[in-house]
Amino acid sequence: MSRFPAVLRATLPAALVALAASCTLREQPAAASDALAPLKVVDVAYMDTTVKACTDFFEFANGAWLKTDTIPAAYSSSGVFKDMADRNELVVRSVLQEAQARAATLPDTSTQHKLGTFYATCMDSTAAESAGLDPLTPTLAAINGIDGPAALLAAVASLQMSGANVLFNYYPSVNVHDAEHYIADLDRGGLGLPDRDYYLNPAASADSTRQAYVAHITKMLVLAGEDSAAAGADAARVLSVETAMATAQLSRVARRDPKASDHQMTMAQLDRLAPNVQWASYFQGIGVSAPLTTVNVDEPAYLKEVNALLAGRSLDDWRAYLRYHALSSAAPWLSSPFVNESFAFNARFTGAKQLLPRWKRCLRATDGEMGEALGQAYVARTFPPEAKAKATQAIHDVRAAFKARLMHLTWMSDATRAQALDKLAKMGEKIGYPDKWRDYTNLAVSDQPFVLNVLAANRFEWNRIANRPGHAVDKTEWDITVPTVNAYYDPTKNEMVFPAGALVPQTFDPNADDGANYGSLGGSWAGHELTHGFDDEGRHYDAAGNLRDWWTPADSKRFDAQAALHAKQYDGYIQVDTFHVNGELTLGENIADYGGALTGYDALELALARDGRPPLIDGFTPEQRFFIAFAQSFRTHTRPESLRSRLTVDPHSPDRWRVNGPLSDVEAFAKAFGCKPGDPMVRPRNLVANIW
Ligand SMILES: [Zn+2]
Repeated sequence: MSRFPAVLRATLPAALVALAASCTLREQPAAASDALAPLKVVDVAYMDTTVKACTDFFEFANGAWLKTDTIPAAYSSSGVFKDMADRNELVVRSVLQEAQARAATLPDTSTQHKLGTFYATCMDSTAAESAGLDPLTPTLAAINGIDGPAALLAAVASLQMSGANVLFNYYPSVNVHDAEHYIADLDRGGLGLPDRDYYLNPAASADSTRQAYVAHITKMLVLAGEDSAAAGADAARVLSVETAMATAQLSRVARRDPKASDHQMTMAQLDRLAPNVQWASYFQGIGVSAPLTTVNVDEPAYLKEVNALLAGRSLDDWRAYLRYHALSSAAPWLSSPFVNESFAFNARFTGAKQLLPRWKRCLRATDGEMGEALGQAYVARTFPPEAKAKATQAIHDVRAAFKARLMHLTWMSDATRAQALDKLAKMGEKIGYPDKWRDYTNLAVSDQPFVLNVLAANRFEWNRIANRPGHAVDKTEWDITVPTVNAYYDPTKNEMVFPAGALVPQTFDPNADDGANYGSLGGSWAGHELTHGFDDEGRHYDAAGNLRDWWTPADSKRFDAQAALHAKQYDGYIQVDTFHVNGELTLGENIADYGGALTGYDALELALARDGRPPLIDGFTPEQRFFIAFAQSFRTHTRPESLRSRLTVDPHSPDRWRVNGPLSDVEAFAKAFGCKPGDPMVRPRNLVANIW
């Protein structure tokens, strides 16, 4: 429930997002010439005013930039997200280089030593090349030695702990029936392609993806020493096993209903559901020390299928499947043949033409594994107390604006309204950085091939959380790191989280005018996260984060009827070739975009009433700047390969429709730009969802 697709981290397999190592030699250190031009929340140079605002506002606000922009070869898209990440990455690189320079003088046990060593071993491409596949030899030997169900399960447990995506997922999640405590969660997992749809879709495009996948698995196994005939046969085994797994998974749309993944059961019930898994041994194998009493199985039908596959498939099938996944998850950090093959296959989904520079891959890996070790230094360099104060004020204006809307909704009964107001009042907010930073004492990092440090960091993270079931939820924890350009709402904690990495230009600037800031993160984006608490998914959770029906049936029905109008609106948008936006998949994000625009605008009016109206800036009123900032906060240019895969896996609509969709429904937009009924940016009122 975030603003950006989180670089697809949540939706694509590890190998797709992992930041592939490369064959380049050591790169030059940062130079002063790396400095990038500052970004503005509203930049009139991006606009194409030859396009009418009332015809296509996305083009009006971003057209000049779109015409001249070229997506850099290593990227699947360019625009606001990349521009902000580029600037954040320069800051993080300076933090990492400092840690690297000081590492030798610090004790091995210090976090700064670990941080510097982690980054330095990643940058050491010579070591990666000379190590080749050696670091993985013990893992592959264990897989090849699987001689029965017990050894198979032990290998699955070990691979999961090291970060490989095999068979299913274990993680401790917030118990949605007792949101103060964690529960053990068993979820689907284990596919090598980004979604079950790629296995099941009969279309020619999906078929060619499957063929490319088999060719890719074959190449990876050949690189690992198999002869090509055996590798080809093994690749077919992998596709066959994964296709059976995919068949038993719910669609992404079905998973949007929180009740679809709510199946708590006793251990005896789990044993009956999947008797071919020796659960006690499994939990022991993954380091869960205290016996579990209950577990949530997100998709029982999936686990049932896994159970059948364990009995029905040969050990040869399983050895091939595990071998490929062990290779695939480590490939980005192995020698260049693995890196390049991994990149080439993943480019099918991203459209990227070349690898990111090594320092960026290493920086992202370090942020991913040790992000809170570098977060403090990042904050000190980028996020002064004034920025936090200004962001907090804006977010509080958004809360007040949404509260006023709730008070005046005519379709919501007083009984539901009272609970909605309670949920809003209790909604937590985290702004900038955590109050409590993560402890890396138990993380072991050393001067060894980098892939081994990655595996160690994955195990550290696993051990950090594996024993949480039954324990109190850590309310101080953040799910993204401080330099991240994103934000999120977590329904099980009923909180919104805005890291410092997103509270910098382009999306926020403490020195910018209110019109600009409230159109972007300060208002509409904050409102986007807030209304996630009340969208088609978030509304099923109460103020405490429990899954509970607190809506009257009549209110639920009215909400659903309005939400259906949203789904229909977005189903009509075509994005690439003949690919349509999926209105059901993107429903929650579309409701949040619309709710964000409405509440952000109201928050701006509150701020202007309090602080006074500024004069025109660049010839625009505060209200016009609000909408221009809104549209520019989605300034993105995406490769068709990436657009196609996102339409399948991403709950966000493409950026053009995240602007023209909600704004053509907002009356204040039409007023600000003098749009008339019949203009493309003014949808007939009877088709507009009237939720907030
Ligand atoms: Zn969102």
